[in-house]
Amino acid sequence: MADPKGFLTTDREVARTRPVAERVKDWNEVYVPGSLLPIISKQAGRCMDCGIPFCHNGCPLGNLIPEWNDYAYREDWREASERLHATNNFPEFTGRLCPAPCEAACVLGINQPAVTIKNVEVTIIDKAWETGDVTPQPPERLSGKTVAVIGSGPAGLAAAQQLTRAGHTVAVYERADRLGGLLRYGIPEFKMEKRHINRRIEQMRAEGTKFRTGVEIGRDIDAAKLRKRYDAVVIAAGATTARDLPVPGRELKGVHQAMEYLPLANKVQEGDYVTSPISAEGKHVVVIGGGDTGADCVGTAHRQGAASVTQLEIMPRPGEERSPAHPWPTFPMLYKVTSAHEEGGERVYSVSTTHFEGSAPEEGETVGHVQWLHLIEVEFKDGKLEQKPGTERKIPAQLVTLAMGFTGTDQENGLVRQFGLELDARGNIARDADFATNVDGVFVAGDAGRGQSLIVWAIAEGRSAARGVDRYLAGTSALPAPIRPTDRALTA
Ligand SMILES: Cc1cc2nc3c(=O)[nH]c(=O)nc-3n(C[C@H](O)[C@H](O)[C@H](O)COP(=O)(O)OP(=O)(O)OC[C@H]3O[C@@H](n4cnc5c(N)ncnc54)[C@H](O)[C@@H]3O)c2cc1C
Ligand code: SF4
Repeated sequence: MADPKGFLTTDREVARTRPVAERVKDWNEVYVPGSLLPIISKQAGRCMDCGIPFCHNGCPLGNLIPEWNDYAYREDWREASERLHATNNFPEFTGRLCPAPCEAACVLGINQPAVTIKNVEVTIIDKAWETGDVTPQPPERLSGKTVAVIGSGPAGLAAAQQLTRAGHTVAVYERADRLGGLLRYGIPEFKMEKRHINRRIEQMRAEGTKFRTGVEIGRDIDAAKLRKRYDAVVIAAGATTARDLPVPGRELKGVHQAMEYLPLANKVQEGDYVTSPISAEGKHVVVIGGGDTGADCVGTAHRQGAASVTQLEIMPRPGEERSPAHPWPTFPMLYKVTSAHEEGGERVYSVSTTHFEGSAPEEGETVGHVQWLHLIEVEFKDGKLEQKPGTERKIPAQLVTLAMGFTGTDQENGLVRQFGLELDARGNIARDADFATNVDGVFVAGDAGRGQSLIVWAIAEGRSAARGVDRYLAGTSALPAPIRPTDRALTA
């Protein structure tokens, strides 16, 4: 046990963020660099090393949290890193981006603020990189088997790293020009600087994983041909089909999917553009959708110099305390103030967009540019969402981003058809307990099979699918399988 009295003598303290006025002028991570190290050992010492560590169940990876809390408390960073990597290939991603369902399940959280598990995680891994403890782990011998991984998001990278280390020869195919999936093109730099992905990719290359960018399976390479070239295939292509808002005026210029807007801002940071082709500068911005993707649009619009930012959500404002519907240790739906919300803007709940109003088309154009968004208040009546008559109003909107979630894997490029894959009732690629699809030797991991989810689930699925592939190729596997496809653990 870390510090037997730590939870009695130490208050919860989290990473400090940089002043808003400073950080909205740049794209670096919002935290004060180095602010965690001086406090984190005492924070780790708050862990009670419970007989039944519910945090293990809260974390989809089954991270060995009390074990690395103990090492962090003792400042044995090397052992802490070893324990952390025992269950998680990429703690620098989860330590920055995970909503930390582990903390919602922390036993201390029943009557006190939970242990700052996520902050301990990120400190351990940052220290490990700094001290050179993260090194390539190439396999001792090769199996002679080959695996293609489609998609380089967290699920594909986790599957590829596990399979490479198990001795298989792995090639990752990515349709984008850079690796990382939504970690690279989606999640803004101010939430996670992309140098963290680059560093991992270098480690993976040194271990023997091969990467091919700018290749779309189903379009550039026929999926069935790919299957013939490799002994097994893992599909980790994400759930990239965005939900749309088919209301009048949707076709106006300036109304974009969040995933048309955010990747361009990422590309500016990569040096591809000087300014984003879709910029919020000087504009009244409305973000439709109250989730994390919406918050990323809010933070991006602030940094681009928006005149105003309004985020709309159709559901009522969540409470600040657990409701009886979300008892401990489940992951509760709570009112969240993200770093982007600290930076300004307005959040409006219980409203629905009825239509967009735009300017007249310019000469030679067929559509005008969005100017106003019309909305109406909504309320739940008998379990159904109904509009409240007389509450219509319009707000200025010169840039609108749609951040209303994703409906499943991309079916336009032929990947699903060419493989002959079966889908489940929710439109995701169906799989069995080993993450195998209906096609022999073809497996699926991450959002492509689970539906829109979280990075921690994608890594857990990538690891588990790798075990399924290893068993398929070798008959047996020493790789761990943290989850089954149907697991939801304690996460909402
Ligand atoms: C804007 C945004 C912010 C988010 N923020 C968070 C967060 O803070 N924390 C969190 O936990 N989760 C977050 N999420 C969710 C998280 O990013 C996803 O759950 C996770 O990335 C899924 O991983 P994946 O590997 O399954 O798929 P993805 O990350 O989507 O990667 C799939 C990859 O496959 C590639 N691909 C697709 N089809 C093909 C093909 N035919 N051939 C070759 N390549 C192909 C795609 O280009 C993509 O690179 C966010 C999502 C979005 C959209
Ligand atoms: S990966 Fe997420 S759930 Fe698991 S320990 Fe880290 S922050 Fe907690």
